Amino acid sequence: MPGDYRAPSRVLVIGSGIVGMSCAWSLQEHGVEVSVVDRRHPGAGASWQNAGLVSPTMSVPLPEPSILRYGIRAVLSPRSPVALVRSADPRLAQFMAALVRSCTTKAWRRSMTVYRVLNAMAADAYAHQQAGGVEMELYRGDVMACFAHPHESAGFLLEMASVVAAGQPVELTLLTADEVRGIEPHISDTVELGVRVRDQQYLTPSHYVAALAKSVRDRGGKIVEDMPISSVERRHGVLVAHGLQGELEADAVVVAAGAWAGDLLAGHGVRVPVYGGRGYSFTVASPTPFAGPLYFPAARVAATPQADRVRFAGIMEFGSPDAVPQGARFGHMVQAVRHLLVDVDWTTMADQWMGPRPLSADGVPLVGATATPGLYVAGGHGMWGVTLGPLTGTLLARQITTGVTPPALLPLDPLR
Ligand SMILES: Cc1cc2nc3c(=O)[nH]c(=O)nc-3n(C[C@H](O)[C@H](O)[C@H](O)COP(=O)(O)OP(=O)(O)OC[C@H]3O[C@@H](n4cnc5c(N)ncnc54)[C@H](O)[C@@H]3O)c2cc1C
Repeated sequence: MPGDYRAPSRVLVIGSGIVGMSCAWSLQEHGVEVSVVDRRHPGAGASWQNAGLVSPTMSVPLPEPSILRYGIRAVLSPRSPVALVRSADPRLAQFMAALVRSCTTKAWRRSMTVYRVLNAMAADAYAHQQAGGVEMELYRGDVMACFAHPHESAGFLLEMASVVAAGQPVELTLLTADEVRGIEPHISDTVELGVRVRDQQYLTPSHYVAALAKSVRDRGGKIVEDMPISSVERRHGVLVAHGLQGELEADAVVVAAGAWAGDLLAGHGVRVPVYGGRGYSFTVASPTPFAGPLYFPAARVAATPQADRVRFAGIMEFGSPDAVPQGARFGHMVQAVRHLLVDVDWTTMADQWMGPRPLSADGVPLVGATATPGLYVAGGHGMWGVTLGPLTGTLLARQITTGVTPPALLPLDPLR
């Protein structure tokens, strides 16, 4: 610990998604007194009904050249799984311009070296939370990517080859149509090829957030609900968070406000834009349980078992987290995958949900100190905040309590 560093004894976390709750939980591991404040309730953002894959193998940066090709298709087809919510919000234009600049192979490779280091530690951070008493139902299983035509697999296999080239181990098995159906009888005979991504994990994210919240409360943490914070300032050596209902004070503050984080970070030296990548999900009943998670890369839809139902998640709409969800999206997702599946009762659709992935424009999360002493950020995990949330908590808590930035966090510097 640097000689003159005084570790904070009270920390306020703004945002009670998977990332914020993991930060709170890990800070408690170091004996810190934590409060968490949310404008709504734990899990109210992207952390509630996402696909729930804890998949270090598939966790890769979003910006890459094919996003631009998808963007053009999105303009031509309202059913495209990647879309832009039209808006006069200048922050959207600023975010898109920065995202487009990052959509190069060179930038992707550079970011992937950052992900590789994080991905290697992600599962251990989950194991640590489990050992520490977070009562999660975490299942181990392979993710099966399914393709109606072998040529559709080229993009996915190329991406996995690039992941290997970046030094991350990947264990894949190519499966014939019969092998795919032998493993997962819900796959229809339209599917001609499967790629099995070995040894990943998955969970029901809403249950997991609730388990984290319970554990934080059991250990003495306070969770304040329905209190939107409008700004944070440093005043006379303490951090003050301003909300409509009053102020909250702490020695340090962590902004873990997901896709809304940009509003709170203005004026604190963070230049990388963070914006919403809105995704949709719903569940349907399956009379027989699914064997494990499925992924349909051509449709950009994942299907994750959830008790006697299965949850479908997908779509990437760049837009404000607060814009009204587009109901037609659920039908688009069904249309995109129904011919690939059998024995699924689509008439039982329920739990329709939209959540904003917190996207950083350069595809790398922002985790660490801001320009305001005592103010930290943990966010911008985009498509992979479930996978990387617990690790983010572990690393940031170490930085906050020791004053030393763990090497894995250096490239995530929010002031980059
Ligand atoms: C359809 C879909 C599928 C996904 N699938 C996966 C997956 O399989 N695996 C994976 O790893 N990731 C997945 N993700 C990504 C993952 O959901 C996110 O990266 C993760 O949930 C982000 O967590 P967070 O805590 O940073 O943000 P959030 O969960 O959005 O939490 C932010 C919280 O901050 C609160 N807040 C915001 N502003 C304020 C304010 N001013 N004052 C007080 N509180 C505030 C919000 O209410 C919210 O509760 C998916 C996302 C979507 C949408």
